[in-house]
Amino acid sequence: MSVNIPRGTQDILPGTVEKWQHIEKIATDICRNYQYKEIRTPIFEHTELFQRNVGDTTDIVQKEMYTFTDRGDRSLTLRPEGTAAVVRSFVENKMFGDPNQPVKLYYNGPMFRYERPQSGRYRQFVQFGVEAIGSEDPAIDAEVLALVMDIYQTAGLQKIELVINSLGDTDSRTAHREALVNHFQPRIGEFCTDCQSRLEKNPLRILDCKKDRDHELMKSAPSILDFLNDYSRTYFEKVQSYLTALEIEFTVDPTLVRGLDYYNHTAFEIMSNAEGFGAITTLCGGGRYNGLVSQMGGPDVPGIGFAFSMERFLAAIEAEGIEWQEENRLDCFVASLGEEAKDYTVKLVHDLRKAGIKAERDYQNRKMKAQFKAADRLKARFVAILGEDELKENKINVKDMETGEQQEVALAELTETLLKKVEAK
Ligand code: AMP
Repeated sequence: MSVNIPRGTQDILPGTVEKWQHIEKIATDICRNYQYKEIRTPIFEHTELFQRNVGDTTDIVQKEMYTFTDRGDRSLTLRPEGTAAVVRSFVENKMFGDPNQPVKLYYNGPMFRYERPQSGRYRQFVQFGVEAIGSEDPAIDAEVLALVMDIYQTAGLQKIELVINSLGDTDSRTAHREALVNHFQPRIGEFCTDCQSRLEKNPLRILDCKKDRDHELMKSAPSILDFLNDYSRTYFEKVQSYLTALEIEFTVDPTLVRGLDYYNHTAFEIMSNAEGFGAITTLCGGGRYNGLVSQMGGPDVPGIGFAFSMERFLAAIEAEGIEWQEENRLDCFVASLGEEAKDYTVKLVHDLRKAGIKAERDYQNRKMKAQFKAADRLKARFVAILGEDELKENKINVKDMETGEQQEVALAELTETLLKKVEAK
Protein backbone atom coordinates (compact mmCIF):
# COMPACT_ATOMS: atom_id res chain seq x y z
CA MET A 1 0.00 0.00 0.00
CA SER A 2 1.25 3.47 -0.81
CA VAL A 3 1.77 6.06 1.91
CA ASN A 4 -0.16 9.34 1.67
CA ILE A 5 0.60 12.82 2.94
CA PRO A 6 -0.24 13.36 6.67
CA ARG A 7 -3.59 14.99 7.47
CA GLY A 8 -3.49 18.76 7.72
CA THR A 9 -0.35 19.14 5.60
CA GLN A 10 0.03 19.95 1.92
CA ASP A 11 2.45 19.64 -0.95
CA ILE A 12 3.09 22.95 -2.60
CA LEU A 13 3.67 22.07 -6.20
CA PRO A 14 5.32 23.95 -9.05
CA GLY A 15 2.72 26.35 -10.36
CA THR A 16 1.67 27.20 -6.79
CA VAL A 17 5.16 27.61 -5.37
CA GLU A 18 5.60 30.66 -7.64
CA LYS A 19 2.66 32.29 -5.84
CA TRP A 20 4.35 31.65 -2.51
CA GLN A 21 7.59 33.12 -3.79
CA HIS A 22 5.70 36.15 -5.03
CA ILE A 23 4.16 36.97 -1.64
CA GLU A 24 7.33 36.05 0.24
CA LYS A 25 9.18 38.58 -1.89
CA ILE A 26 6.59 41.28 -1.19
CA ALA A 27 6.77 40.59 2.54
CA THR A 28 10.56 40.48 2.74
CA ASP A 29 11.06 43.55 0.53
CA ILE A 30 8.68 45.54 2.71
CA CYS A 31 10.41 44.33 5.88
CA ARG A 32 13.66 45.62 4.45
CA ASN A 33 12.10 49.03 3.75
CA TYR A 34 11.00 49.20 7.37
CA GLN A 35 14.44 47.98 8.48
CA TYR A 36 13.43 44.59 9.90
CA LYS A 37 16.07 41.85 9.61
CA GLU A 38 15.51 38.15 9.18
CA ILE A 39 16.02 35.69 12.03
CA ARG A 40 15.93 31.89 11.71
CA THR A 41 15.39 29.79 14.81
CA PRO A 42 15.13 25.98 15.13
CA ILE A 43 12.02 24.06 14.10
CA PHE A 44 11.98 22.38 17.53
CA GLU A 45 12.58 23.86 20.98
CA HIS A 46 12.45 22.62 24.56
CA THR A 47 8.77 21.96 25.39
CA GLU A 48 9.08 24.20 28.45
CA LEU A 49 9.65 27.24 26.29
CA PHE A 50 6.09 27.09 25.01
CA GLN A 51 4.53 25.72 28.20
CA ARG A 52 5.84 28.59 30.26
CA ASN A 53 5.61 31.42 27.78
CA VAL A 54 2.69 30.75 25.45
CA GLY A 55 0.72 29.77 28.54
CA ASP A 56 -0.62 26.66 30.23
CA THR A 57 -4.24 27.66 29.73
CA THR A 58 -4.01 28.22 25.99
CA ASP A 59 -5.40 25.77 23.44
CA ILE A 60 -1.98 25.61 21.85
CA VAL A 61 -0.29 24.27 24.96
CA GLN A 62 -3.20 22.19 26.21
CA LYS A 63 -4.19 20.42 23.03
CA GLU A 64 -2.19 21.29 19.99
CA MET A 65 1.52 20.74 20.47
CA TYR A 66 3.55 18.15 18.63
CA THR A 67 5.67 17.06 21.57
CA PHE A 68 8.12 14.16 21.56
CA THR A 69 10.93 12.75 23.62
CA ASP A 70 14.24 12.49 21.82
CA ARG A 71 16.80 9.73 22.27
CA GLY A 72 18.48 11.73 25.03
CA ASP A 73 15.20 11.77 26.97
CA ARG A 74 14.54 15.47 26.41
CA SER A 75 11.03 16.73 25.82
CA LEU A 76 11.02 18.71 22.61
CA THR A 77 8.19 20.38 20.70
CA LEU A 78 7.79 21.34 17.07
CA ARG A 79 7.27 25.08 17.30
CA PRO A 80 3.59 26.06 17.27
CA GLU A 81 4.32 29.78 16.90
CA GLY A 82 7.25 32.13 16.43
CA THR A 83 7.35 34.73 19.18
CA ALA A 84 8.53 32.54 22.08
CA ALA A 85 11.54 31.32 20.10
CA VAL A 86 12.45 34.78 18.83
CA VAL A 87 12.33 36.18 22.35
CA ARG A 88 14.36 33.21 23.62
CA SER A 89 16.97 33.96 20.99
CA PHE A 90 16.86 37.69 21.80
CA VAL A 91 17.68 36.88 25.42
CA GLU A 92 20.17 34.08 24.70
CA ASN A 93 22.11 36.17 22.20
CA LYS A 94 21.94 39.28 24.39
CA MET A 95 20.42 41.32 21.60
CA PHE A 96 19.29 43.79 24.28
CA GLY A 97 22.92 44.93 24.31
CA ASP A 98 22.78 45.99 20.66
CA PRO A 99 23.06 49.79 20.45
CA ASN A 100 20.33 49.78 17.79
CA GLN A 101 17.09 49.52 19.72
CA PRO A 102 14.44 48.39 19.20
CA VAL A 103 15.70 45.17 17.64
CA LYS A 104 13.50 44.66 14.59
CA LEU A 105 13.20 41.11 13.32
CA TYR A 106 11.13 39.05 10.92
CA TYR A 107 10.83 35.30 10.37
CA ASN A 108 9.24 33.04 7.80
CA GLY A 109 8.86 29.34 8.43
CA PRO A 110 6.70 26.32 9.21
CA MET A 111 4.71 26.03 12.45
CA PHE A 112 2.93 22.95 13.77
CA ARG A 113 -0.36 22.61 15.63
CA TYR A 114 -2.47 19.53 16.14
CA GLU A 115 -5.74 21.22 15.14
CA ARG A 116 -8.79 19.88 13.35
CA PRO A 117 -7.88 20.45 9.71
CA GLN A 118 -10.29 22.48 7.60
CA SER A 119 -10.07 25.13 4.94
CA GLY A 120 -7.52 27.70 6.16
CA ARG A 121 -6.46 25.54 9.09
CA TYR A 122 -3.53 23.16 8.74
CA ARG A 123 -1.37 21.13 11.05
CA GLN A 124 1.72 22.41 9.32
CA PHE A 125 1.46 25.99 8.09
CA VAL A 126 3.93 28.75 7.30
CA GLN A 127 3.92 31.85 9.42
CA PHE A 128 5.50 35.12 8.43
CA GLY A 129 5.99 37.24 11.51
CA VAL A 130 7.62 40.38 12.80
CA GLU A 131 8.88 41.30 16.27
CA ALA A 132 10.08 44.74 17.43
CA ILE A 133 11.71 44.30 20.81
CA GLY A 134 13.02 47.07 23.04
CA SER A 135 10.63 49.99 22.65
CA GLU A 136 7.47 51.09 24.37
CA ASP A 137 6.69 53.92 22.01
CA PRO A 138 3.15 53.82 20.57
CA ALA A 139 4.78 54.80 17.27
CA ILE A 140 6.34 51.33 17.02
CA ASP A 141 2.89 49.76 17.51
CA ALA A 142 1.67 51.91 14.63
CA GLU A 143 4.75 51.00 12.55
CA VAL A 144 4.19 47.27 12.99
CA LEU A 145 0.55 47.66 11.95
CA ALA A 146 1.51 49.85 9.00
CA LEU A 147 4.03 47.23 7.91
CA VAL A 148 1.55 44.35 7.78
CA MET A 149 -1.12 46.47 6.09
CA ASP A 150 1.52 47.55 3.57
CA ILE A 151 2.31 43.89 2.80
CA TYR A 152 -1.35 43.04 2.22
CA GLN A 153 -2.05 46.15 0.19
CA THR A 154 1.04 45.72 -1.98
CA ALA A 155 -0.19 42.23 -2.78
CA GLY A 156 -3.44 43.86 -3.92
CA LEU A 157 -5.76 42.94 -1.03
CA GLN A 158 -8.57 45.44 -0.57
CA LYS A 159 -11.21 43.58 1.39
CA ILE A 160 -9.37 43.54 4.68
CA GLU A 161 -10.27 44.96 8.03
CA LEU A 162 -7.99 45.88 10.90
CA VAL A 163 -9.48 45.42 14.37
CA ILE A 164 -7.61 46.63 17.44
CA ASN A 165 -8.06 46.57 21.18
CA SER A 166 -6.08 47.32 24.29
CA LEU A 167 -5.57 44.71 26.96
CA GLY A 168 -3.99 47.32 29.21
CA ASP A 169 -1.05 46.92 31.56
CA THR A 170 -0.86 44.58 34.56
CA ASP A 171 -2.86 46.90 36.85
CA SER A 172 -5.64 47.38 34.32
CA ARG A 173 -5.76 43.68 33.62
CA THR A 174 -5.92 42.78 37.30
CA ALA A 175 -8.88 45.10 37.82
CA HIS A 176 -10.61 43.75 34.75
CA ARG A 177 -9.89 40.18 35.77
CA GLU A 178 -11.61 40.71 39.07
CA ALA A 179 -14.66 42.17 37.35
CA LEU A 180 -14.77 39.22 34.96
CA VAL A 181 -14.65 36.70 37.80
CA ASN A 182 -17.51 38.51 39.58
CA HIS A 183 -19.48 38.60 36.36
CA PHE A 184 -19.15 34.94 35.37
CA GLN A 185 -18.82 33.17 38.72
CA PRO A 186 -22.52 33.03 39.74
CA ARG A 187 -23.47 31.28 36.50
CA ILE A 188 -20.23 29.52 35.53
CA GLY A 189 -22.08 26.20 35.70
CA GLU A 190 -23.83 27.13 32.44
CA PHE A 191 -20.48 27.31 30.62
CA CYS A 192 -18.29 24.60 29.09
CA THR A 193 -15.71 22.81 31.19
CA ASP A 194 -12.89 24.73 29.49
CA CYS A 195 -14.48 28.02 30.58
CA GLN A 196 -14.96 26.69 34.08
CA SER A 197 -11.25 26.09 34.44
CA ARG A 198 -10.47 29.40 32.71
CA LEU A 199 -12.42 31.28 35.39
CA GLU A 200 -9.67 30.57 37.88
CA LYS A 201 -6.65 30.56 35.65
CA ASN A 202 -7.35 33.19 33.02
CA PRO A 203 -10.92 34.55 32.88
CA LEU A 204 -10.08 36.81 29.92
CA ARG A 205 -9.91 33.70 27.78
CA ILE A 206 -13.60 32.98 28.45
CA LEU A 207 -14.34 35.86 26.08
CA ASP A 208 -12.55 33.93 23.35
CA CYS A 209 -14.58 30.73 23.79
CA LYS A 210 -16.09 29.39 20.58
CA LYS A 211 -18.64 27.13 22.30
CA ASP A 212 -20.18 29.68 24.64
CA ARG A 213 -19.90 32.73 22.46
CA ASP A 214 -23.71 33.22 22.29
CA HIS A 215 -24.29 33.04 26.04
CA GLU A 216 -26.02 36.21 27.28
CA LEU A 217 -23.28 36.84 29.86
CA MET A 218 -20.77 37.19 27.04
CA LYS A 219 -22.47 40.27 25.62
CA SER A 220 -22.81 41.95 28.99
CA ALA A 221 -19.28 41.08 30.17
CA PRO A 222 -17.26 44.00 31.54
CA SER A 223 -15.17 45.65 28.84
CA ILE A 224 -11.43 45.95 29.34
CA LEU A 225 -11.61 49.48 27.97
CA ASP A 226 -13.52 50.56 31.10
CA PHE A 227 -10.66 49.30 33.27
CA LEU A 228 -7.70 50.91 31.53
CA ASN A 229 -5.71 53.11 33.87
CA ASP A 230 -4.43 56.50 32.70
CA TYR A 231 -1.19 55.21 31.28
CA SER A 232 -2.88 52.39 29.33
CA ARG A 233 -5.64 54.64 28.04
CA THR A 234 -3.25 57.35 26.88
CA TYR A 235 -1.04 54.73 25.26
CA PHE A 236 -3.98 53.28 23.35
CA GLU A 237 -5.20 56.71 22.27
CA LYS A 238 -1.75 57.54 20.98
CA VAL A 239 -1.60 54.34 18.92
CA GLN A 240 -4.98 55.24 17.41
CA SER A 241 -3.95 58.78 16.61
CA TYR A 242 -0.80 57.55 14.84
CA LEU A 243 -2.84 55.08 12.81
CA THR A 244 -5.16 57.90 11.80
CA ALA A 245 -2.17 60.02 10.82
CA LEU A 246 -0.93 57.14 8.66
CA GLU A 247 -4.40 56.90 7.08
CA ILE A 248 -4.80 53.32 8.22
CA GLU A 249 -8.44 52.45 8.79
CA PHE A 250 -9.30 50.42 11.87
CA THR A 251 -12.11 49.59 14.24
CA VAL A 252 -11.85 49.10 18.00
CA ASP A 253 -13.34 45.86 19.31
CA PRO A 254 -13.21 45.62 23.13
CA THR A 255 -13.99 41.89 22.95
CA LEU A 256 -10.87 41.10 20.98
CA VAL A 257 -8.63 38.98 23.22
CA ARG A 258 -5.83 36.97 21.73
CA GLY A 259 -5.44 33.24 22.24
CA LEU A 260 -1.97 33.51 23.76
CA ASP A 261 -1.21 34.51 27.32
CA TYR A 262 1.61 36.94 26.85
CA TYR A 263 -0.23 39.92 25.38
CA ASN A 264 -0.88 43.32 26.97
CA HIS A 265 -1.71 46.81 25.68
CA THR A 266 -2.22 46.77 21.91
CA ALA A 267 -3.81 43.60 20.50
CA PHE A 268 -5.00 43.29 16.92
CA GLU A 269 -6.30 41.08 14.17
CA ILE A 270 -6.76 41.55 10.47
CA MET A 271 -9.73 39.87 8.80
CA SER A 272 -10.66 39.23 5.21
CA ASN A 273 -14.17 40.28 4.13
CA ALA A 274 -13.75 38.74 0.70
CA GLU A 275 -16.70 36.65 -0.36
CA GLY A 276 -15.80 32.99 -0.48
CA PHE A 277 -12.80 33.36 1.83
CA GLY A 278 -14.27 30.74 4.13
CA ALA A 279 -15.46 30.44 7.68
CA ILE A 280 -12.18 31.37 9.29
CA THR A 281 -11.65 35.01 8.43
CA THR A 282 -8.59 35.93 10.49
CA LEU A 283 -5.58 36.63 8.30
CA CYS A 284 -3.21 37.96 10.92
CA GLY A 285 -2.92 38.36 14.65
CA GLY A 286 -0.55 40.11 16.97
CA GLY A 287 0.04 42.41 19.87
CA ARG A 288 2.30 43.81 22.52
CA TYR A 289 4.04 41.53 24.98
CA ASN A 290 5.78 43.66 27.61
CA GLY A 291 7.06 41.31 30.28
CA LEU A 292 7.81 38.33 28.05
CA VAL A 293 11.52 39.16 27.73
CA SER A 294 11.99 39.43 31.49
CA GLN A 295 9.93 36.30 32.03
CA MET A 296 12.50 34.50 29.90
CA GLY A 297 15.40 35.78 31.97
CA GLY A 298 16.22 38.94 30.01
CA PRO A 299 15.98 42.54 31.14
CA ASP A 300 12.57 44.16 31.43
CA VAL A 301 12.24 45.31 27.84
CA PRO A 302 8.93 45.50 25.98
CA GLY A 303 8.03 44.01 22.61
CA ILE A 304 5.37 43.88 19.94
CA GLY A 305 4.79 41.65 16.93
CA PHE A 306 2.41 39.86 14.63
CA ALA A 307 2.20 36.69 12.57
CA PHE A 308 0.15 35.67 9.58
CA SER A 309 0.08 32.47 7.64
CA MET A 310 1.06 32.35 4.02
CA GLU A 311 -1.77 29.87 3.42
CA ARG A 312 -4.46 32.34 4.47
CA PHE A 313 -2.70 35.22 2.72
CA LEU A 314 -2.83 33.27 -0.54
CA ALA A 315 -6.43 32.21 0.07
CA ALA A 316 -7.38 35.88 0.48
CA ILE A 317 -5.57 36.77 -2.75
CA GLU A 318 -7.49 34.04 -4.52
CA ALA A 319 -10.81 35.03 -2.95
CA GLU A 320 -10.30 38.60 -4.20
CA GLY A 321 -9.42 37.32 -7.68
CA ILE A 322 -6.03 39.07 -7.79
CA GLU A 323 -3.72 37.94 -10.58
CA TRP A 324 -0.11 38.74 -11.26
CA GLN A 325 2.38 38.30 -14.06
CA GLU A 326 4.44 35.17 -13.72
CA GLU A 327 8.05 36.33 -13.78
CA ASN A 328 9.85 33.13 -14.64
CA ARG A 329 8.72 32.99 -18.27
CA LEU A 330 10.96 31.15 -20.70
CA ASP A 331 13.01 33.44 -22.96
CA CYS A 332 14.18 30.95 -25.54
CA PHE A 333 13.47 27.36 -26.47
CA VAL A 334 16.25 25.89 -28.62
CA ALA A 335 14.79 23.44 -31.11
CA SER A 336 17.05 21.24 -33.18
CA LEU A 337 16.85 18.80 -36.07
CA GLY A 338 19.35 16.00 -36.55
CA GLU A 339 21.88 14.34 -34.29
CA GLU A 340 24.70 16.80 -34.77
CA ALA A 341 22.53 19.86 -34.20
CA LYS A 342 21.05 18.20 -31.12
CA ASP A 343 24.53 17.64 -29.66
CA TYR A 344 25.46 21.21 -30.42
CA THR A 345 22.52 22.63 -28.46
CA VAL A 346 23.78 21.10 -25.19
CA LYS A 347 26.50 23.72 -25.01
CA LEU A 348 24.44 26.38 -26.75
CA VAL A 349 21.67 26.28 -24.12
CA HIS A 350 24.28 26.23 -21.36
CA ASP A 351 25.90 29.40 -22.76
CA LEU A 352 22.54 31.16 -22.99
CA ARG A 353 21.77 30.30 -19.37
CA LYS A 354 25.18 31.49 -18.22
CA ALA A 355 24.43 34.80 -19.91
CA GLY A 356 21.24 35.13 -17.85
CA ILE A 357 18.77 33.99 -20.51
CA LYS A 358 16.04 31.58 -19.42
CA ALA A 359 16.62 28.79 -21.90
CA GLU A 360 15.33 25.28 -22.47
CA ARG A 361 15.81 22.47 -25.01
CA ASP A 362 14.28 19.14 -25.88
CA TYR A 363 15.24 16.01 -23.91
CA GLN A 364 12.67 13.66 -25.39
CA ASN A 365 13.98 13.27 -28.93
CA ARG A 366 10.87 14.97 -30.24
CA LYS A 367 10.13 15.92 -33.84
CA MET A 368 10.33 19.60 -34.78
CA LYS A 369 6.55 20.09 -34.54
CA ALA A 370 6.43 18.59 -31.05
CA GLN A 371 9.36 20.78 -29.98
CA PHE A 372 7.38 23.85 -31.04
CA LYS A 373 4.41 22.61 -29.08
CA ALA A 374 6.61 22.22 -26.02
CA ALA A 375 7.93 25.76 -26.54
CA ASP A 376 4.33 27.00 -26.68
CA ARG A 377 3.40 25.22 -23.50
CA LEU A 378 6.38 26.82 -21.76
CA LYS A 379 5.28 30.22 -23.13
CA ALA A 380 8.66 30.76 -24.80
CA ARG A 381 9.18 34.27 -26.13
CA PHE A 382 11.57 33.03 -28.82
CA VAL A 383 12.40 29.72 -30.44
CA ALA A 384 15.90 29.31 -31.89
CA ILE A 385 15.91 26.64 -34.60
CA LEU A 386 19.04 24.77 -35.48
CA GLY A 387 18.99 22.29 -38.39
CA GLU A 388 21.84 20.44 -40.11
CA ASP A 389 22.11 23.10 -42.84
CA GLU A 390 22.19 26.02 -40.42
CA LEU A 391 24.85 24.26 -38.37
CA LYS A 392 27.06 23.83 -41.44
CA GLU A 393 26.77 27.56 -42.15
CA ASN A 394 27.23 28.52 -38.49
CA LYS A 395 23.83 30.15 -38.38
CA ILE A 396 20.61 29.79 -36.42
CA ASN A 397 17.04 30.99 -36.97
CA VAL A 398 15.34 32.96 -34.23
CA LYS A 399 11.56 33.11 -34.30
CA ASP A 400 9.63 35.68 -32.28
CA MET A 401 6.67 33.67 -30.99
CA GLU A 402 4.46 36.73 -30.58
CA THR A 403 4.90 38.31 -34.02
CA GLY A 404 5.93 35.21 -35.97
CA GLU A 405 8.92 37.09 -37.40
CA GLN A 406 12.07 35.08 -38.13
CA GLN A 407 15.63 36.26 -38.25
CA GLU A 408 18.78 34.41 -39.21
CA VAL A 409 21.74 35.21 -36.97
CA ALA A 410 25.32 33.96 -36.75
CA LEU A 411 25.62 31.23 -34.10
CA ALA A 412 28.36 33.21 -32.35
CA GLU A 413 25.99 36.15 -32.00
CA LEU A 414 22.96 34.30 -30.69
CA THR A 415 23.50 35.21 -27.03
CA GLU A 416 23.94 38.88 -27.74
CA THR A 417 21.00 39.03 -30.14
CA LEU A 418 18.72 37.29 -27.67
CA LEU A 419 19.83 39.49 -24.80
CA LYS A 420 18.80 42.55 -26.83
CA LYS A 421 15.52 41.02 -27.93
CA VAL A 422 14.56 39.89 -24.42
CA GLU A 423 15.41 43.32 -23.06
CA ALA A 424 13.24 44.98 -25.68
CA LYS A 425 10.18 42.90 -24.72
P1 AMP B 1 -1.93 32.82 16.21
O1 AMP B 1 -0.49 32.51 16.38
O2 AMP B 1 -2.87 31.72 16.60
O3 AMP B 1 -2.32 34.16 16.73
O4 AMP B 1 -2.16 32.92 14.65
C1 AMP B 1 -1.64 33.97 13.87
C2 AMP B 1 -1.99 33.73 12.42
O5 AMP B 1 -1.43 32.48 12.01
C3 AMP B 1 -3.47 33.55 12.14
O6 AMP B 1 -4.09 34.78 11.94
C4 AMP B 1 -3.43 32.76 10.86
O7 AMP B 1 -3.11 33.57 9.74
C5 AMP B 1 -2.27 31.84 11.09
N1 AMP B 1 -2.65 30.50 11.60
C6 AMP B 1 -2.79 30.10 12.87
N2 AMP B 1 -3.10 28.81 12.95
C7 AMP B 1 -3.16 28.36 11.68
C8 AMP B 1 -3.43 27.08 11.08
N3 AMP B 1 -3.67 26.03 11.82
N4 AMP B 1 -3.41 26.99 9.72
C9 AMP B 1 -3.13 28.08 8.97
N5 AMP B 1 -2.87 29.29 9.47
C10 AMP B 1 -2.88 29.44 10.81
